[in-house]
Amino acid sequence: MRYGLISDIHGNLEALNAVLKDLEKERIDTYLCVGDIVGYGANPKECIEIVRSLKPEVLIAGNHEWGVLGFLDLDYFNQYAREAVIWTKRILSHAEMEYLKSFKLTSIDKNITLVHGSLDEPKEFYYVFKSEDADPTLNIQKTLVSFVGHSHFPGIFRSDGGRSVEVDGMNTKIEPDKKYLINIGSIGQPRDGDPRAAFGIYDEGAGTVEIRRVDYNIEAAQSKILAAGLPPQFALRLALGN
Ligand code: ZN
Repeated sequence: MRYGLISDIHGNLEALNAVLKDLEKERIDTYLCVGDIVGYGANPKECIEIVRSLKPEVLIAGNHEWGVLGFLDLDYFNQYAREAVIWTKRILSHAEMEYLKSFKLTSIDKNITLVHGSLDEPKEFYYVFKSEDADPTLNIQKTLVSFVGHSHFPGIFRSDGGRSVEVDGMNTKIEPDKKYLINIGSIGQPRDGDPRAAFGIYDEGAGTVEIRRVDYNIEAAQSKILAAGLPPQFALRLALGN
C-alpha cells in the first residue's frame, strides 16, 4: 500500500494542486489527511471539494475545522487566525460544514495512527516541533507509525522504547521493531523557512517514508488572500515560509 500524506492545506488551492500533480506519478493507493483543510487561505471550498474527491479513508479534524464548527472556542486562536476562522465559517455551505463534522480527532487502525496535534491530548492540539514534543504521542502509540500535522514543521521521529530521536533528513527506512512519528508539515502554509509545499509518501510494503517539497505559484495564492480581504500577513508569510 502506498499512501499519499497530506496536511494543513489551509485553503491554499495552488499549493494543493501542485502537490497532487507531483503525487500523480507516484502510484498512490490512498490518501491520508490529518486536518486543517481550511483557514488562512482564500480557497477553503475548493480545497474541501478536492480532498473529498480523493476519498481519504479517514478524515482527521484540525483546530481550524474545530474552530469553524464551533467545537473550539475562538479565544484559542490569535487575532488573525480568529479572523480566518470567522471568514471561513461565513463562506462555507451547510453541506461543507456537515462534511467537516464527519472528521474525527484521531484514527487508530492496526498499523497507522492519525492525529492533527498529539495523541495524548488530541483536543488540546499540542504542537510537535522537536523530539520532546513527539514523546507523549510515541509513549502511548500502539502502531508502527503515526502521522501528524499542525506545527507546519516537517520531521521524522523514531523511538525504540525510550526517548525519541529526530531522524536526519526527510526520509527514512521504517524498521519494524521501532515506532515512528512523522510530522508531514504543511501544504498551504509552511513555517520551517522553506516556502515550498510539504507532503509525504508512505510505502508500507517497502517500509519507507519520505517528506517531499514542491514549488507552487505563491504569487497567485497571495493575490487571492489579499483580494478576499483576509489579513495581509497570511499572504506575506507564504513567500517566507514562516
Ligand atoms: Zn494548521
